[in-house]
Amino acid sequence: MVYNWQRLFFPPTCLICGQPGENDLDICGHCRTDLPRNHSSCHCCALPLPPGMATKTLCGSCARKPPPFSRIISPWLYASPIDDMIQQLKFQQKFPAGRLLAQLLAQAIPPLDRPDLLIPVPLHNRQLGKRGFNHASELARVLSAELKIPWSPWLLRKVRETRPQHNLGRRQRKSNLRRSFHFNNRGHCRHIAIIDDVVTTATTATEAAKTLCKAGVEKVEIWALARTPMNRPTLPIMLL
Ligand SMILES: [Zn+2]
Ligand SMILES: [Zn+2]
Repeated sequence: MVYNWQRLFFPPTCLICGQPGENDLDICGHCRTDLPRNHSSCHCCALPLPPGMATKTLCGSCARKPPPFSRIISPWLYASPIDDMIQQLKFQQKFPAGRLLAQLLAQAIPPLDRPDLLIPVPLHNRQLGKRGFNHASELARVLSAELKIPWSPWLLRKVRETRPQHNLGRRQRKSNLRRSFHFNNRGHCRHIAIIDDVVTTATTATEAAKTLCKAGVEKVEIWALARTPMNRPTLPIMLL
């Protein structure tokens, strides 16, 4: 939360072009309009689909086998300047970029049927030690403050160290992550949103959601900043 007196000395300034920010956010109206929106996407997993698809379209993968999560909300494509801002947060510890992205994501969350708890995708302790912070926790913390939903960085843990997902094929990604999470449903939550920065093949989202469902959570959704397209075709596509 940024207090008003701080804004007196540090007025909102667009992190992309340096012009004055709008609506108390560090982004101007022009740059906000230009953000690469994930307009036409799968109703369930937010996979980018060809432009002009109906609003409730499922990708071939979700049509064939419904995933363990109810939906992914991912308002942007992993493209400039969203990709740069995510990299700035993760690798240069530019927390204002993370705060802005989380504030914008909060505004993209529908008002009804919100979860009881927000949980960031965890890092393994060794990775956390190397990086010094979990970028997903930074997003969850701001989302929690904006939406007045509690969050916890402790209940979902990465109990097994895994290889970086981006170097692996689809099948290897699945086996790499299998049983790598542990969830303690101490609060008996029924509806949880898992917070992540980018969803690529949704393998992490699927494995984390499976872990939560096994612990008795009835509904799991994924909130992520950006979605990348998959490398292989997604047809057939089914209209609801
Ligand atoms: Zn701007
Ligand atoms: Zn899908």
